[in-house]
Amino acid sequence: MTTYDHNLFVIGAGSGGVRAARIASGHGARVAIAEEHRVGGTCVIRGCVPKKLLVYGSHFAEDLVDARRFGWTLGDKGFDWPTLRDNVLAEVDRLNDIYKTTLSGHDVHLYEAHAELLDAHTVKVGDATVTADKILIATGARPLVPDLPGAELGITSNEVFHLDHLPKSLVIAGGGYIANEFAGVFHELGVKVTLVNRGDTILRQYDQALRDRLLTISMTKGISFEFNCGFERIEKTATGVRVVVTNGDPIEAEMLLWAVGRRPNIEGLGLAAAGVAVNDKHAIAVDADSRTNVANIWAVGDVTDRVQLTPVAIREGHAFADSVFGGKPWTVDHGCIPSAVFSNPPIASVGLTEAEARNQHGTVKVFTSDFRPMRNVLAGRNERSLYKLVVDAATDVVVGAHMIGPDAPEILQALAIAIKAKLTKAQFDETVALHPTMAEELVLMR
Ligand code: NDP
Repeated sequence: MTTYDHNLFVIGAGSGGVRAARIASGHGARVAIAEEHRVGGTCVIRGCVPKKLLVYGSHFAEDLVDARRFGWTLGDKGFDWPTLRDNVLAEVDRLNDIYKTTLSGHDVHLYEAHAELLDAHTVKVGDATVTADKILIATGARPLVPDLPGAELGITSNEVFHLDHLPKSLVIAGGGYIANEFAGVFHELGVKVTLVNRGDTILRQYDQALRDRLLTISMTKGISFEFNCGFERIEKTATGVRVVVTNGDPIEAEMLLWAVGRRPNIEGLGLAAAGVAVNDKHAIAVDADSRTNVANIWAVGDVTDRVQLTPVAIREGHAFADSVFGGKPWTVDHGCIPSAVFSNPPIASVGLTEAEARNQHGTVKVFTSDFRPMRNVLAGRNERSLYKLVVDAATDVVVGAHMIGPDAPEILQALAIAIKAKLTKAQFDETVALHPTMAEELVLMR
């Protein structure tokens, strides 16, 4: 029988790879993992975690204003970007250490180097060449930078956490998650933000009512939007960049942030040498068990471009490890995945949008609650929240829940259990409200 150096070699120590490595090791496998950047991956190092901390940091701008209405006397408020940046980066360092400790604590051998497949069982990692019975590719994705003149003058979400100083003005290219989240953050921190999108809407996959509400609130706050604008070229100016668009006047700003999607990291992995197939989304093609077309090679997370979300990658990694090394096969259900946009205010959603439900179920009932949160009323803030339940009229099952307003993602996580469990609107109605909360609206919609 062929003997290999490792039972499992994981390429990429992000959310999916680390989970798979430590679970497989727990099942008794000899595991190695390779990471060419920093252990923790996009979410921990340059994504969800530092972004959320910036969202918290930026929210104080409004909280400090509102505080006066609640009786607080405050001195002159000031904001120091390097303090927030460095504290956030220090937290990232702390988490990076924890991830490394987790790997060593589970006897996973870490190669801090680039890994490339030489064939289906052989990996060149740094200066070493090692063999493994099974391989898992979990290399994630990276920000897409369009191929156009001057594109390199813009930064991406990789660099945004490390800025020397805050720009006076910022153009954000794109209208998705990253664009709207950073629009909220930088606007609150005093930057003049213009969001430029190629289409005529933001956050295309979210329910129309929520998108409209976020757009209205963002514009009222002072964020500018330009729609139906393709990008022609980027030029350098004395003070920053000029963004030349297909539709309208050029837009000048001190800085440009590309937020036009993320591309799976499949280059330089030796996929061709190992015979691993790539699909038309520039992603590694896998089946429901995350197995590629090569029998001993699997792939999980953003590199497969199924659903580019951390908890999904973690689940895929866990299912792989349990199934292949734990004798407990299971597959990830990619349906009904809750998601959130940490815009200001945030959006959260699970299940079908109203439009999707009408297509799938024919007749649907829609319940909405459009209200001003109590805190906003006292603060003199006009922003209204919007909650929406979409119900299949034939079965009374709630098939979608959509929320925009303070703490919407926190509330929706619990609500997602009810939607996943296919509870009916009647069961929502039977639940007694918890007063006074915003979430009580979910059981009071008639
Ligand atoms: P998104 O897919 O959310 O949005 C991309 C935006 O860029 C869309 O508005 C899209 O327009 C536009 N676009 C796409 N390609 C081009 C192009 N070639 N030229 C100009 N515009 C273009 O991408 P993000 O980069 O914001 O985020 C990437 C992924 O990361 C998300 O899909 C999500 O899965 C994940 N993420 C999740 C977060 C969360 O859970 N809170 C936070 C951040 C990221 P159009 O609508 O017309 O296609």
